[in-house]
Amino acid sequence: MNIEDIFNKAREEKRTVLTEIEAKQALTAAGLNCSDTRLAADKAQAAALSEEIGYPVVLKISSVDITHKSDAGGVKVNLKDKAEVEQAYDNIMKSAQAACPDAQIEGVSVQGMARPGIEIIMGMIRDANFGPVVMFGLGGVFVEILKDVSFGVVPIDKNDAAEMIAEIKGKKLLSGYRGQEPADISYLEDMLVKLSDFVDKTPGIAEIDMNPVFAWNDGAVVVDARIILE
Ligand code: ADP
Ligand code: MG
Repeated sequence: MNIEDIFNKAREEKRTVLTEIEAKQALTAAGLNCSDTRLAADKAQAAALSEEIGYPVVLKISSVDITHKSDAGGVKVNLKDKAEVEQAYDNIMKSAQAACPDAQIEGVSVQGMARPGIEIIMGMIRDANFGPVVMFGLGGVFVEILKDVSFGVVPIDKNDAAEMIAEIKGKKLLSGYRGQEPADISYLEDMLVKLSDFVDKTPGIAEIDMNPVFAWNDGAVVVDARIILE
């Protein structure tokens, strides 16, 4: 599906929020490496897709009404076999229905467990003065507590992206702090430029949130994505 089809489907359904799967489809079309994520409408399909993708897998609630999936008990990681997938499916449905009784639930998304890396975030917001800006930061506590993020006004080039990454207070973590695998900085710069290009040539996006992205020494993968349309 191309980006326009994905956006039009949401607009026809009078939605501004894309599902994780739709957001990843759009970002994949924009050249960003996202974990291969598929929709299972029921438990049997979740088990079949897990076999196809290969264990361990991750199941997440898929609902246009639930944007913070973990908060609704809607994410189960590292599922190692069919029994674990079936159990996780039941638990996710039960928790999500309890947390959001009115939510319309499409099923669960199924994806492979990504190789761990440094957790980073990338995104885009609209600034009242500057228009669209792309954002980069370290994930987890760094963004939630320390607000350690940097911004670049769209469009950015690779040098701008390098500056954004260099501005981060915790940037030392990216170069392999205490034996951790260092991040491939040039690859992250390219991702930011691709994100900026995508935003620049695609009208109607209000917000993009890729949280987290796992950064490795030879690339990175987007494991969660959210796009909000205007
Ligand atoms: P939320 O909607 O709560 O932000 P996420 O999709 O970000 O849900 O999932 C919550 C957490 O689960 C992530 O922060 C990440 O640590 C882990 N996770 C999600 N997807 C994967 C994956 N494909 N591989 C490994 N860990 C994952
Ligand atoms: Mg997330």
